[in-house]
Amino acid sequence: ELLDVVAFSKVIIEEFSEIKKIGQYIVLNTSKNVALLQLDRKLVRHILMNVLSNAIKYSAENTTIYFNIKESAHWVTLIIKDEGIGIAKEEQNRLFERFFRAKNAQNIQGTGLGLHIVKQYVELLDGTIELRSEINNGTTLFIKWPKAVVL
Ligand code: ATP
Ligand code: MG
Repeated sequence: ELLDVVAFSKVIIEEFSEIKKIGQYIVLNTSKNVALLQLDRKLVRHILMNVLSNAIKYSAENTTIYFNIKESAHWVTLIIKDEGIGIAKEEQNRLFERFFRAKNAQNIQGTGLGLHIVKQYVELLDGTIELRSEINNGTTLFIKWPKAVVL
């Protein structure tokens, strides 16, 4: 299925519009108006819902989430950056494990399953996911998919 990742991201962001009430905003930035990829809409929905839920949940009120979509010759990259609590360096390599929760997230609700499933889905769609984070200084996720080969 050919999916416009830009238009679809806008739809998903719209579903989180109630976060405005606590002063949180998701700001979408794209170099292209359209980014067509051969992706399963249901899996992409699940991926974006999880990743944006995390960005919101692990950030304080009155913070911004930056959602960038970049396109190069062969790849489309989604970059989701928050201004939240961050993740300690020594825990970062465990985040995609089932049930893993960081120390600084213990008093925030969660099962530790979201990112594990996200990684499975991203890879099922031939993509990669990477994370950059600093404790108390926000987290950035990079999700990269190869561009559709049009035959
Ligand atoms: P759920 O299964 O409901 O999503 P969860 O949010 O705890 O529960 P994951 O989404 O898998 O689980 O995330 C795993 C852990 O990674 C979290 O418990 C948290 O410690 C950390 N984490 C994930 N995203 C962020 C983020 N944006 N900022 C800070 N910590 C994060
Ligand atoms: Mg989660």
